[in-house]
Amino acid sequence: MNLEELNQDLASFPRSNPNPVLSLSADGSVIYYNDAARDLAAAIGADTPASILPSDTAALITLCLGSGEKIMNLLATVRRRTISWSFIPILEAKVVHCYATDITDRLNLEAQLRHSVKMEAVGQLAAGVAHDFNNILTIIQGHADLLAGASGLPEPCESSARQIGAAAERAGKLIKQLLMFSRKQVMQQRNLDLNEVILNLSPMLRGLVGEQIVFRFNATPNLPAVSADLGMIQQILVNLVLNARDAMPNGGQITVATSRQALEPVSSVLNPDARPGHFVCLKVTDTGCGMDAHTLSHLFEPFFTTKETGKGIGLGLATIYGIAKQHQGWVVVDSQVGAGSTFTIFLPGADTPAKSAAPALAADVGLSQNLADMARGDETILVVEDEPALRELVVDILELCGYRIFQANSGVEALGVWALHKDEVDLLLTDMVMPGGVSGRQLAERLQAESPGLKVIYTSGYSPGMAGKDIALLEGFNFLAKPYPPTRLAQVVRECLDGKRGPAPASQIS
Ligand code: ADP
Repeated sequence: MNLEELNQDLASFPRSNPNPVLSLSADGSVIYYNDAARDLAAAIGADTPASILPSDTAALITLCLGSGEKIMNLLATVRRRTISWSFIPILEAKVVHCYATDITDRLNLEAQLRHSVKMEAVGQLAAGVAHDFNNILTIIQGHADLLAGASGLPEPCESSARQIGAAAERAGKLIKQLLMFSRKQVMQQRNLDLNEVILNLSPMLRGLVGEQIVFRFNATPNLPAVSADLGMIQQILVNLVLNARDAMPNGGQITVATSRQALEPVSSVLNPDARPGHFVCLKVTDTGCGMDAHTLSHLFEPFFTTKETGKGIGLGLATIYGIAKQHQGWVVVDSQVGAGSTFTIFLPGADTPAKSAAPALAADVGLSQNLADMARGDETILVVEDEPALRELVVDILELCGYRIFQANSGVEALGVWALHKDEVDLLLTDMVMPGGVSGRQLAERLQAESPGLKVIYTSGYSPGMAGKDIALLEGFNFLAKPYPPTRLAQVVRECLDGKRGPAPASQIS
């Protein structure tokens, strides 16, 4: 091998090195970088390899060349990635070779493993304490009740006994949550349709979050069933929504969403709890205050709270963590201070579609019909309703049925939506009485004047006769009396779109 060949051979070393390498001159400028360095910069979203170097690189180069010593495994963060740098001085050439490794995934995995081990230990401790406490509480409560019921006891003593009993009962509820965290709570599993569970709970959740917060439900239809305990899943939802509400004291948006996820073996590398398979996800996103690194690292520990005394006891997420694990699932959290948080619960999907799960649930929650069998479609509907909670519920139900929705909170707003989307709307579903000067009927007349083929359904809390004295309203045809169950809404919308029912017979028109 001659000198030139030898030089070429040596030059190929850094070029074909699979690890990123940069060579820097004494003044800190980059004189060479290999393909791997270029790829790393691109993967991080940086323009050049030079821009991912640590901020004090110039000082490090001077130090390296001055002392002739290497600097090894120096950690620097660029765009939420952690890079480990080693600086090796080549004194003869007055350059420094910089070697980079992106260790973000490894650090994440290590942190999550440590977290899992810690949670396991805390869980065992909690289970042990809870078990003994339950026995003690049973004795306290039993004797307090006996005492309170004893005859001839002076009134102050009887009242004290009752208070002891009540306090023991409260302590018992706390213990129940601890048991939930340590996965020792008895489960009653059955196949559930997650969408249906959320839909049924939505009115209650909307009530919990109040008027300052917009509550949205984005359902992915036709989910596989999840084999789960209904009460526990409801508890997950309530806890997540309450935390999201508390993170937004000045209002914001909470989005509850469902999805299905097929995880490949490689996905589990990023989360030790994750495993390959088919999962149904429940995601709760807020636009609240977000969480810092300290809160994130203690989040699921029992009794960890940042809320004032009386507002939180720190068992909400510990309970969710335990429930998810007991269902062979796990929780993923994504949060940024000031930008909000997303909690995703992964639950194993059953082989059965959620559809067949519904009858059992329907009986459970007192539903008369099977929501999973609701009439469906993909047309576009303009929903006009001034009561926000009701409008959002109607939108959720119709979206769950597959429809595309535009919504407006008044006749006036609906006219604005119509101006932009008139060619897309197939059906107008409007409340009859609305503030703002344009009633449901006036709205429908104006829209139908422009689009005679537009289908219209009116809704009202009044009977058809009282709602529209001089307009032909027929319940179930172009009129829906409030309150109506989701299945009826879906059925009337479908039939109106299909034009299934002929014009109303005169005798039935008010
Ligand atoms: P608690 O609500 O009683 O404090 P949790 O276990 O539910 O107990 O929550 C623990 C802590 O996690 C909260 O005190 C809060 O600091 C933080 N947290 C939970 N959810 C959110 C969220 N959506 N946004 C911001 N912080 C949250």
